[in-house]
Parts: sequence; structure tokens; C-alpha cells
Amino acid sequence: MSSASLTQAREILRRTFGHAEFRGRQAEVISEILAGRSALAVLPTGGGKSVCYQIPAMMRPGLGLVISPLIALMTDQVASLLQAGVAAARIDSTGEAWERSETWARIEAGQLDLLYVSPEGLMAPAMMERLKRTPLSLIAIDEAHCVSQWGHDFRPEYRMLGRLAEIFPEVPRLAVTATADVRTREDIRTELKLHDSAEFVASFARPELALSAERKRGAGHKRVLELVEARPDRSGVIYAGSRDGTDKLAEALRGAGVPALAYHAGLDKAVRAERLEHFLASESGVMVATIAFGMGVDKPDVRYVIHADPPASIEAYWQEIGRAGRDGEPAEGITLYGASDMAWAYRRIDGREVSDEVKSVQNRKVRQLYALLDGASCRAAGVRRYFGEEGVEACGQCDLCLGTVETVDATEAAQKALSAAHRMGGRFGRGRLVEHLLGKTKDPSAFEAGLSTFGVGKEFSATGWRDLVDQLLFDGLLKEDPNDGRPLIGLGDVEGVRAVYRGERQVALRRALEDSDAMVTRPRKRGRDAVELAVGDQKLFEDLRYWRAAEAKRQHVPPYVIFSDRTLAEIALRQPRTPSTLLAVSGVGEGKLARYGAEVMAVVEKRLTATG
Ligand code: ADP
Ligand code: ZN
Repeated sequence: MSSASLTQAREILRRTFGHAEFRGRQAEVISEILAGRSALAVLPTGGGKSVCYQIPAMMRPGLGLVISPLIALMTDQVASLLQAGVAAARIDSTGEAWERSETWARIEAGQLDLLYVSPEGLMAPAMMERLKRTPLSLIAIDEAHCVSQWGHDFRPEYRMLGRLAEIFPEVPRLAVTATADVRTREDIRTELKLHDSAEFVASFARPELALSAERKRGAGHKRVLELVEARPDRSGVIYAGSRDGTDKLAEALRGAGVPALAYHAGLDKAVRAERLEHFLASESGVMVATIAFGMGVDKPDVRYVIHADPPASIEAYWQEIGRAGRDGEPAEGITLYGASDMAWAYRRIDGREVSDEVKSVQNRKVRQLYALLDGASCRAAGVRRYFGEEGVEACGQCDLCLGTVETVDATEAAQKALSAAHRMGGRFGRGRLVEHLLGKTKDPSAFEAGLSTFGVGKEFSATGWRDLVDQLLFDGLLKEDPNDGRPLIGLGDVEGVRAVYRGERQVALRRALEDSDAMVTRPRKRGRDAVELAVGDQKLFEDLRYWRAAEAKRQHVPPYVIFSDRTLAEIALRQPRTPSTLLAVSGVGEGKLARYGAEVMAVVEKRLTATG
């Protein structure tokens, strides 16, 4: 790869996208594609995956084909590219016939650099026939982890994409994703026939994200409401486990004056589209959603993601939490979880019609997720290790790093609980086990009252014992049999239980400090090179946002397609009054300078005159 072409790529990054330098592994990925070779790139959310194929598509002769799973994602990307002055279009099932023929006319005239299509659309025979006659610069496969059944977003239609290797043997293919553990990466290579291609895996660190997790306390929405109310006027996403759950939670939030909307697959398509559009355009909207909402929703200023119900795996966790803070500004990921969620997850896997091998992989993923959620060491580091990163350091800003969780040695109490569960023979649920330990069982049978574990647990209250039982469930020392909604508790991992009995394995009880709300208001560390504004600049920033909102409305595009919050913050800080100083701001390229330069400078000028 000649350095001349990388220099040219950097020039495009500057002029068209307005960014001074490549970051992370962008330059390496781009070099590989420019050299005509295929590659797999795993870059974190917000890491800038799209320029990795957009720039080579602009440089290499022919049409760059981008395969993307969701229409919302395509719409946003195409809108952003058009704003930057790049010749891009999409073809999907929602378009009109005349639009399609117009797009094809442009493709045939060689006028288009990038075309976005869905996997189904791509594989339609008519589309394929036309593409075979079209010179292609590259094929980018976005969200490539969808091809893997080990992953968490398996999409059968992605499987067909392996055929692209044979249909277009000369065209470099780039598979990109934000979440793929080692096994998923292997699967992507096999399925997409990228056997000898280079792999670029960036760090999974998301320094702008502060993570926390807490066990659910009681039922209902109280905690979620508290968390949301402590974060007013900010855009957030709340994931709930069921459609019904999302509707009810959104309603409860609206009752508390929060502008929340529900989103799930049970809603009418038009309603969903409308709510999505509303959310994208708003700067303080809250979306309460099932996981039907998400992939491809690239709203950059989501300030928090709350899991009202836990995700399905660490991959899903990182991806869902990762929708916060895409603009690099500080954001939070908060997860609520419980032992019954875990039991439910196992049960769902058990009911799936997949091979035992797939089941055991999925069961392991559940175990790893709960070990992370209920663990006692840095969450961000745990995730990064899970994805195979080495030499990872603690993040210093998750709840565990900040020490809002304390552990006490509860080995002896654990011995009692395990022994009680054993003696009770797996025929009772958690509540009954706790009553047994406290000796408070109502009308105990002679058998139960005669057991040596009856009433031995005076050291904890009922809540303390419930916590310990949960802990033992998360540790796999106890196991819950869902028993059609009336779960029964029995012994789990035999070796582990023995080790606890013998005192060879310690059980540390995780105890939340009194002040478990510390994280609600604690001062936040800065995000990825976050821009900090003085009061005066803050006013200018607000002016700029006001201008942007009006402009977005006029053009019917989401505000961030015009400029990101980061870019506006940097403008507010630098107060550019000439085109060249405005151009130096990250996110301002020549296209946007031509389009908005005069207006932006007028906003700056006006504020400066107003404040003298
Ligand atoms: P993702 O990897 O999540 O798809 P995007 O491609 O949407 O990320 O990029 C995320 C943000 O980072 C965008 O606002 C984009 O303009 C910005 N970005 C991309 N590359 C750079 C860079 N080299 N320097 C600064 N910002 C960049
Ligand atoms: Zn940490």
C-alpha cells in the first residue's frame, strides 16, 4: 500500500468529513481495502466504522456496496453522507419504483460512490443481475456478527452473504462489527469466506461510559422511575424484557412527566416509524423498548441506557449499553437484574430448537453475563477481557471501581444455606428456604422441623438471606428449576458446593452500601476528549443547538445529521469567525462549510455582539 494513497485518504477525511486524523485502527483498515484485500474490522460503537468503507469507496473506481440490516441505519447514513456532499443512495423495499430507476440510472452513469442495501434486497435475483454488470469498488458488510449463530443477533438472511465471495471474487469485502468475541469472529470468517483476510480488532474500551448494575429490589417500576427522574432533560433508552413491560413502564414514566414512548415489535409499523423519528429528533426523549429497538439506531446523544430487565449476554449488554454516548460525551449504562431473570434465561435457551452444542454455548454466555453483573471487580475491564483484550486496567468510573459495593465474608452462612437446600431436597422455593433458615416456617412438618438446619440462620434478616441465596444462584452453587413459574431451589455445581462445605472456597456476599444512590448524582469523569464549556460558551452552544433544530426541521432530517453535539460544543468554544477557523473544527468538512458556514458564523457573531 503506497503511503500516497493513505495521504489521499487522510485528505478526504479532512475535507469531506472534517476530522483531522484517523483514529484507532481506521488507517490500517482503509489501507488494507485500498490495497484490494478483504478484511474483518471489530471497532467499538462510535469508533468510526463507517469511514473505513466510505473513504475507500470514494477513492476506488466503481460503486461501493454497503449491506446493512436495518432501514433506519441506512437512512441515517445516507442522510449524513449527502450532508457531507458524498454521492450516496439506498435501495430498499420502502422506496418508489421511479426512485429506484433513478438510482440505477446514476449507478450506470458511474455517478454514485455508495449504495446501501439490505441483505434480502441484495440477494433478490433482479438486483443481483444488475450488480453483476456493475463495477464495484468494495462490498462492506455492516453488523457482520449477525452472520454468526454463536452471536446474539443471528439473522438467517446474513448467511447468504457468503456467496458474495464467489460472485465477486475480485472485489474486496470488509466485514465490520462492534461486538464479536473470538468465537463469533471465527464464525464471521468462515461464513463470509474471509479465511486469509486480515483482522483488525480495536480496543473495546468506552471511556465515556460509566457502568453500574444493581439487583432488582421488589417488583415494579419504582427504581427505574428514580433513575430516570435523576436524569432530567436527557435522552435515554430503557430496555424492558417484554412488550407489555415496555408499554406499562412508558406509561408510568409519562405519568411522572417524562416524555417516554414505548417501542416494540407488536406495534404497528407506522407507529414504530413515527416514534423512532420522534425520538431521533428530540433532545430529551426517552424510549422504552424491547430489543426490537436498537441495532442501527445511531442517535449519538443518548445519555443513558437503563436495562429495566437484563440483557441476554455480554455481547448484547455491550451493544445495548453501547448505544449511549456515541458522540464520545459522558454517558451511563445502568442494569437491573435478578436471580429469576437468570433462571428465565436458562429456561428460554432450553426451549429453543437448536443443537445441544449451541445450547451449551448460550448457557455459558448467560453464566458469564450474571457473573459480570453480580461480580465485584471492574465491569468495563470484565467486558474487555471477555472480548479477548489483554492487559486491561480497571476503568476507575464504574460502580465497582468507585466502591459503592462492599463485600463481606459469608462462607459460614453459605454452608448453612447450601446444607438447608440439600436437606429440603429441591422441593421448595426461595421464600420457603429463607423461612426455614430463620425457623419461621408456618406449620412446619415434623420432618422439616426436625432437620438440623431448621432455624439455624439467626445471623441475617430475611432480606439478608434472600441476598445470599441470590448470590449463591449467581455463583452457580444453587440452581433454580423454573417449575412453570413456581421455581424450586436445589444444589448447583457439585464440586463448588463441596469446596464451600470444606471451607476451601470462600463466599463473599456482595452488599450494597446504604448510599446505593451515590451514582445518581456523583460527578462524572470526562468522556472521550469531551469538550467542556464555560458559562458564556454554554449560551452560544444553546444558540447553535437552536439553529440546528430549526435547520433539521426544515430539511426533515435528525439534528445530528447536520452537526453533532461535539461539533457544536467545539464551535462554541472556538467561536470561529472565518471559514478557515470553522473548517478546523472536528466534524466540519468542506461540504458542510459551504452549506452552513455563513449561518453558523452569523450565530457566533450575534452571540458575541449580544454579550459584548
Ligand atoms: P460506528 O463505529 O459506531 O459506526 P460512526 O462511523 O458512526 O461509528 O462514527 C462515530 C462518530 O465518530 C461520527 O460522529 C463520526 O463522524 C466520528 N468519527 C469517525 N472517524 C473519526 C475521526 N477519525 N476523528 C474524529 N471523529 C471521527
Ligand atoms: Zn471499573
